[in-house]
Amino acid sequence: MPAPDDLPEGAAGAGAGQPPLRWLDEVTAVVLAPNPSPMTLEGTNTYLMGQRGRGDVVLIDPGPDLVAHRAALDASLRWMDATVSAVVLTHHHADHAEAAGWADDWGAVLHAFTPDLVPAKARPLPDGATVGAGGVTLEAVHTPGHASDHLCLKARDTGVVLTGDHVLGRGTTVVAWPDGDMREYMASLERLGGLSASALYPGHGPALHDPAGVIAEYLAHRREREQQVLDAVAAVGGTPGEIVARVYADVDPVLYPAAERSVRAHLRKLVIEGRVRARGDTYSI
Ligand SMILES: [Zn+2]
Repeated sequence: MPAPDDLPEGAAGAGAGQPPLRWLDEVTAVVLAPNPSPMTLEGTNTYLMGQRGRGDVVLIDPGPDLVAHRAALDASLRWMDATVSAVVLTHHHADHAEAAGWADDWGAVLHAFTPDLVPAKARPLPDGATVGAGGVTLEAVHTPGHASDHLCLKARDTGVVLTGDHVLGRGTTVVAWPDGDMREYMASLERLGGLSASALYPGHGPALHDPAGVIAEYLAHRREREQQVLDAVAAVGGTPGEIVARVYADVDPVLYPAAERSVRAHLRKLVIEGRVRARGDTYSI
């Protein structure tokens, strides 16, 4: 399949008088939310999926509760001449789920893996369950690690997988203690690899057209970091802060708090696997 998202802006529907959506394939359009940041890259991707002319779509990750984003989505829906019949959240973080209440405005059913974590009334969407709308069927794939309630969504007809924050369009995702779990994260990456996706559509950043290569890179990056943490524990041991100072010696200390949450996620994995010992908050081999 070609990579239509590589077309210049405007070639795929963002020209004068057009709504700010871009088509990624024959059944998938994306609307970028205006919430750029170091954590969200250019902003959150809200996906609209449905066969053209069917009159309804499933919307994935409404994103932040911003007036401009809502206007962009409503304009896109008018342009598609479609209503939203289902909204699915990949996970509960605010940049994906803050606007979950819009599902009610649209008369749509809201789906989430853990309804209690999201800010609107949702139906549980367990692993393996499906949501259908607009002639598209999405299958929920529970992929904890970045967040305990994280879902990837596989489009059965196209083989595309929407990856939320499990895999991003650029760089690596945050797996931060205590909500993030590195052991689960790496197992979820392997599970994603087993889906044989035709493409990955992330919650932030551009679509990825070499899923196997990207997943292999992600796994290699985490294994390399894990080895660095193990080496630091063996060399100096001590508290997570002491381990961070060694592993991240060439990094601006302003980033140490974030690095410590990541190191703690690695340490928890290593302790569970019996490769590192913990006494209180001090770690040794
Ligand atoms: Zn997130």
